[in-house]
Amino acid sequence: MQGSYNHPLFGTVVYEFEGTEENYDRGAEITIISGFDSRAIKKVLIPQLVGIKGSDGIKDGWFGLHERGHAQLEMVFSELERLDLMKHVDEAGGTINRRLRKPFNALGQKVKSTLPSNHAFGIAVDINPDAPNQGETTAPLAHVFLALGFNWGATFNDPMHFEVAKFIDDPQPPTLNELERCKQLASKQFQDFVDRRRGKRKSSSLSASVGIVAADSEFENEDQDLSLEDEHDHDAQP
Ligand SMILES: [Zn+2]
Repeated sequence: MQGSYNHPLFGTVVYEFEGTEENYDRGAEITIISGFDSRAIKKVLIPQLVGIKGSDGIKDGWFGLHERGHAQLEMVFSELERLDLMKHVDEAGGTINRRLRKPFNALGQKVKSTLPSNHAFGIAVDINPDAPNQGETTAPLAHVFLALGFNWGATFNDPMHFEVAKFIDDPQPPTLNELERCKQLASKQFQDFVDRRRGKRKSSSLSASVGIVAADSEFENEDQDLSLEDEHDHDAQP
């Protein structure tokens, strides 16, 4: 079937995928019919990622990314290095993937969407895709991405995922104030992510009429199950 999406950066994009509105695969492959030129996706070398594990086609620090996002991604990683935060980067993946989104609900369960993933436009990267809870170990890095025009997927239950919210053609190193402001924003976004997950669990346990204490330990088990389930799902992100 055909879909149409008004992309915040590119305008109306028309795409096609196999299936019907009622019956299609989560993350189905898409073909872009109009509104986006894939030739804008070009390789960029991120020196800080040489020697760090890459997946989904990322090798020796080479990323496929929309050319208008190159400068700001380069600056993200030079800032991460300057701030001694590269120790929190274990793996990088998921740049180009022509498919539908693969969203998660607040419980970390897989849900479906007919909207195209930003990985299809080469404007999204996934950091630490194998870490628990959809990559929550990215939390110490998020403010740097925010300061350089990226959105953080923690706001939609996918903390491994960072995507370009606005192109910055001539990025400048963020000021101390800007970094501090983004740190507070990231910390709030992360807290909301954790609360959503916890809140949902508590309410489902209450409806099952079990005590809070028993419920909490039950949720811990659920956490483990979820992380196990996601462990091998390298590209499990919108
Ligand atoms: Zn992603």
